[in-house]
Amino acid sequence: MRICDLCGANEAVYTDYTKGISLCADCLMSSVKRRAWKVLEEELIEGDRIVVAHSGGKDSSLALILTKEFSDANPDMNLTITSVTIDEGTFYRKSSIDLAEKLCRELGIKHLTFTMEEIHGLSIGELEDKLPRDSKRSACTYCGVFRRQAINAVAREMGATVVVTGHNLDDIVQTALMNLARGDIKALVKTLRHERRIEDGLVPRVRPLKYVYEKEVAALVAAKRITAHLGKCPLTQGMRIGIRREIDELEDLEAGAKIRALRSFMLISNEIAPDVKLKRCKVCGEPTTSDICKACQFKAELSKVVGRDLLKPLNLDSVREKLIRG
Ligand SMILES: [Zn+2]
Ligand SMILES: [Zn+2]
Repeated sequence: MRICDLCGANEAVYTDYTKGISLCADCLMSSVKRRAWKVLEEELIEGDRIVVAHSGGKDSSLALILTKEFSDANPDMNLTITSVTIDEGTFYRKSSIDLAEKLCRELGIKHLTFTMEEIHGLSIGELEDKLPRDSKRSACTYCGVFRRQAINAVAREMGATVVVTGHNLDDIVQTALMNLARGDIKALVKTLRHERRIEDGLVPRVRPLKYVYEKEVAALVAAKRITAHLGKCPLTQGMRIGIRREIDELEDLEAGAKIRALRSFMLISNEIAPDVKLKRCKVCGEPTTSDICKACQFKAELSKVVGRDLLKPLNLDSVREKLIRG
């Protein structure tokens, strides 16, 4: 049995190759919490009404727990927290929604679920069934764009001042590299620029796990038996898989490469790249950097696939109803 290098008492559950030390679950939790709380201290403001985008997976569940603990430890900040799950309508999601509900009961946090079907008029389950085999995009690509837009619209409708997401260091570096590889500097800047400016229709995002490795989250959630789904979405496809493999190899060769890559991307986004102005989509009215938002560009393609017109504003009636009913 390997003993924790920090406390010298408990069994180690994780090796930090950037520092060359092994940590027990308690010491790993302290380390992760310190990094997460630093982000929350810097980016949350008094009276924030927080929506946590909570899939029930390991990352968003840990982000919710750490945000709740931060809120409890800082009562004078008067933070409120609601957990929101977007149900994409895939088989995979069912078990993680049950776990999201369970965790919220454990923490005493209000939990709301909205389906992609009710908001966007189609589910990823339907797409999986109907997408032709030679489709140039995977269900995963559509899912990410529709989910992000849905959570923003729901949070805005709820009067939230900030959306907390579970994105970890690995997720953010992968996304930044994908944006670079696609030549999409606007998306890169939008992902990484740190700002609390309220832009038209866009609720600012806070990512407490942005300096936390995915394997730290996985080790912590397993060792602490946190109520969360541990699997990876089986639909993940495309460029992300290749980029993940490459950056993981780079990290194995050069411990700390992911952190350094994130800091470089943040520097580029905050100090070098030009400001990105948001507009409203001409079709749905949601915030976007182009005339027609990505979701509507996708819906134009998918209307043919599903055999009905998907190009319309998001349906937020059910959100309003659930809010009135409390
Ligand atoms: Zn320890
Ligand atoms: Zn649109």
